[in-house]
Amino acid sequence: MIIAKTINEVREYIAIWHKEGLSVGLVPTMGYLHEGHASLVDRARSNCDKVVVSDFVNPTQFAPNEDLEAYPRDFEHDCQLLEEHGCDLVFYPSVEEMYSPNAATYVEILDEMPKQLCGKTRPIHFRGVCTIVSKLFNIVKPDKAFFGQKDAQQLAIIRRMVHDLSYDIEIIGCPIVRESGGLAKSSRNTYLSVEERKAALVLSKAIFHGEKMVSEGIIDANKVIAEMKNMISAEKLANIDYVSAVDGETMMPVDEIKNGVLIAMAVYIGKTRLIDNFIVGGQK
Ligand code: AMP
Repeated sequence: MIIAKTINEVREYIAIWHKEGLSVGLVPTMGYLHEGHASLVDRARSNCDKVVVSDFVNPTQFAPNEDLEAYPRDFEHDCQLLEEHGCDLVFYPSVEEMYSPNAATYVEILDEMPKQLCGKTRPIHFRGVCTIVSKLFNIVKPDKAFFGQKDAQQLAIIRRMVHDLSYDIEIIGCPIVRESGGLAKSSRNTYLSVEERKAALVLSKAIFHGEKMVSEGIIDANKVIAEMKNMISAEKLANIDYVSAVDGETMMPVDEIKNGVLIAMAVYIGKTRLIDNFIVGGQK
């Protein structure tokens, strides 16, 4: 597996692969990789000739009060996992390589979409995500890029950015990978104490309950959301940021449940903010 730390190195390999007529898949990550990330790499592996994974904790998507410094990192372990899953090239740049000191250009969706759900408490987050993903697209020039449904708003926003900016890249959404107890795998799970880990199961419990209500034919979104909120509130260590039903493409609130509706939540367990969701009718 090639480890590339500079943009130029990546470009050299990509140029060779493109000359050989090989397709390239990109999996953007912030490292501290787990089976959720691995599922994206596997999907890319089976879809593309060459698989590139970026491993970069992107500072522009963190607000000053967030966990940029504390964000877990373990590049050696990441490389091991990526080798096992057949990654061809891992792009592991420094912050300086990705952002020159006077960088002042951002990619931002200027409507309500990035202001909903996570955008309410993380107002600059999706501007940072769009900017870094856009840069990665320009560096790697992938044919396909793979994102997890776990970050459903991010996936919808990337699809929108690709459409609005006419990127010739196919965006592939991949299902949420969960631990055996139901907790969605996340690099941030490492922040949880043993007690908090148990408490965190309330997120997936509420998700599964919501899914069951929907499968039983309940179409009143507010009723489903209220029951899910009740369930979460019963857990002492849980503090709800939001539980919402929105249109799966626009992220705007809906009252009626139908196929394509996204039911998403962000919940603090102690100090750790966790997210989870499901899409009515399954992912497209
Ligand atoms: P991150 O490193 O957290 O920025 O995530 C990188 C990519 O992996 C994103 O597209 C995430 O949605 C995806 N991802 C993270 N956790 C999971 C999971 N449990 N299941 C599926 N995809 C995931």
